[in-house]
This record gives sequence, structure tokens and C-alpha cells, in this order.
Amino acid sequence: MEFNLDLGLGVETNTTDVNVNEIYESFIIGGGPAAMTAAVYLMRKGIKTAIVAGKIGGQVGDTKGIENYMGYNYIEGDELVTKFSSQVRQFEIAFRENTFVENIRVEDGIKFIKLSDGIEYRAKTVIIAAGSKWRQLNVPGEDKLRGRGVCYCAICDGPFFKGLDIAVVGGGNSGVEAALDLSKMVKSIKVLEFADKLNADKVLVDKLLETPNIEAITSAQVVEILGDQGVSGIKYKDRVSGEEKIVEVEGVFVEIGLVPNSQFVEGLVELNKFKEIVVNKGCETTVEGIYACGDITDVPFKQIIIASGEGAKAALSACEYLNKH
Ligand SMILES: Cc1cc2nc3c(=O)[nH]c(=O)nc-3n(C[C@H](O)[C@H](O)[C@H](O)COP(=O)(O)OP(=O)(O)OC[C@H]3O[C@@H](n4cnc5c(N)ncnc54)[C@H](O)[C@@H]3O)c2cc1C
Repeated sequence: MEFNLDLGLGVETNTTDVNVNEIYESFIIGGGPAAMTAAVYLMRKGIKTAIVAGKIGGQVGDTKGIENYMGYNYIEGDELVTKFSSQVRQFEIAFRENTFVENIRVEDGIKFIKLSDGIEYRAKTVIIAAGSKWRQLNVPGEDKLRGRGVCYCAICDGPFFKGLDIAVVGGGNSGVEAALDLSKMVKSIKVLEFADKLNADKVLVDKLLETPNIEAITSAQVVEILGDQGVSGIKYKDRVSGEEKIVEVEGVFVEIGLVPNSQFVEGLVELNKFKEIVVNKGCETTVEGIYACGDITDVPFKQIIIASGEGAKAALSACEYLNKH
């Protein structure tokens, strides 16, 4: 069936619906840079491909400005997502979005891909590009106050904290980037870092140190987020003195990295201790005909350009497999 699909970005496209009666040559899971690049490579090779994506753009859609994707001195995340989408939608690819894959099983070489709505699709090869999601602190108060002052996405939720005192947990690239972004709208920020120094790139740390309304507190282990209906403070243990201290804030941004979205393939392909999918140089997993690429894999350095490159590799490996079988 042919139809017009709005990719949620105001972009009209002429893709086809994913068809249960079809055995696709390749089935891509994800909608971030890894998946979108794999899609372009497969479609240019004339491979019958379907793509199922939770959220088009993946983490790129949560990123304000990007300065390290080649071809652009600076580009907003949303704009890059639109460009990726439009590059993919020029092809007659079978597409479903806002839906998640729940599990994959393999029978006689055919991969059965089951979605959360119960529908099962079939394919000869699968490319897993499901990326990663925010890591949680797992301290008292976090669950109760999620969405009531505890947030994970500075770009999405920052504007709600205009003029308020807040804390950012995490002094790596995510935390420092979030703090710099938030500093333009909030009154003050305490950045709490577990290690004895901020671990973000030097250029980011230098910017943070120059920003008057941000204070970095290192060797700080967060033990509780305080509050009833909303956040009233954050309690941390000073790892040097052992003393517990409270900072009064009305918002807490947890920016301590990401965990791979690999739970739906646990027990199917090999995962490492971080739950990343183990792949070889050709993006092959431990199951023949199943490939993985981008942030979900054990390939180091989680970046857009790397995810895109790995997506291309996974697609080319899948093509090689299809040629041989
Ligand atoms: C705040 C922030 C700022 C960043 N800034 C930069 C930067 O400036 N430069 C840079 O190079 N990198 C940056 N990154 C990192 C970069 O965004 C990631 O490395 C990149 O997006 C990874 O791409 P991916 O395709 O592997 O995964 P993701 O972007 O995580 O995409 C995963 C996709 O899979 C989908 N999905 C997940 N589970 C399922 C499922 N079960 N079924 C179907 N679909 C599923 C998701 O909805 C999503 O579409 C930043 C990341 C963040 C969070």
C-alpha cells in the first residue's frame, strides 16, 4: 500500500507501509543516524527494506546544536533529523514509526520481528540500530519526582525551570553540555560530579568555569532527591569528608550517560557487561544475518558520525550476506 506519511517533522513522504505478508531482505530497527544511514545504503543497492523506529532522529532530536558533523559548521539537532528523514524518504522504503520491536526470533534463517502491538514481520537480515537511553541514578526520590522536577533532557525540559535554582548530576560531556545550555535560562546551577574532577572535554569545562551562575561540586555522591509534590533539594555525600550535605534546588537534571536499548535482544545475541551488542569489524553479531550498529554496540565513542559510519558498514555487510545466500 502506498500512502503519505508525515514523519512527525512536517515532512511529507511517499513510503510504503510495512507488510506482514512480505519477507523483507533487510529489516532495520531504529530511527537514529545509524538506522537512517543503513536505510540509504540498502535502498541505493535495491534491497527490499523495512524500517521500524521508536522515534525518528533518536538522540539527535534531543540535541540542540551540533558542531562536529562534517559538512556543517553548526546545525540544530532537529534540522539534521529533517535532513536525514528527507534523504531516506526519497526511496520507496517500508516505514513504521512510534512503535517498538519487542523481540526477534530466528527460524530456518528467517528472522521474525515482533512489535509491541503484537504484529510480527519477517526478514532475511536484521540491522539493530536501537541506540541508547538516559541512565538513572536509582536513588530515593528519583522515581517519585520524575516529571515533577526530576528530568533527563535539558533541551526538552529546561524552559520549565526559568529563573529557578537547579542541580545537574554528572560532570561528563552530557552533564556539562546540559549545564551550559540551562545556564541561559535558570538562576543558578550546581553541577554534582562523583569523581574528583569534571570529565567533560576541556573546551566544555573551560566554558563552564567561565559561566558565573554555575558551580561545580566534585567528589559528590548523590544519595537522595528531596521533595514531596516537587523537588525541594538534593542530598549528596561528600566523598572526601564523608559528610552528607543538602543543596536546595527546585529541579534536578540527571545527566550521567546512557544505557543501550538492547533488552529486546537479550539471550539472542551476545551482549557485553554494559549490555552493548558485541559486533565484529563488519557489524556482525553472534547470530548469522543479524547486524548491529551505532550506540547500541560495543564500538567505542558514541557520536553521530560514528553511528552513521557504522550504519553504512552494517548495511554493506547485510548486502554481502544476501548476495551469498
Ligand atoms: C544531549 C545529547 C547531545 C549529543 N551531542 C552530540 C554532538 O554534538 N555530536 C555528536 O556527534 N553526537 C552527539 N550525541 C550523541 C549522538 O546523538 C549519538 O551517538 C547518536 O545519536 C547515536 O545514534 P544511533 O542511531 O546509534 O542511536 P539513537 O540516536 O539513540 O537512535 C536510536 C533509535 O532507535 C529507536 N529504538 C530504540 N529502541 C527501539 C525498539 N525496541 N524498536 C524500534 N526502535 C527502537 C529510537 O526510538 C531511536 O529512533 C549527543 C547525544 C545526546 C543525548
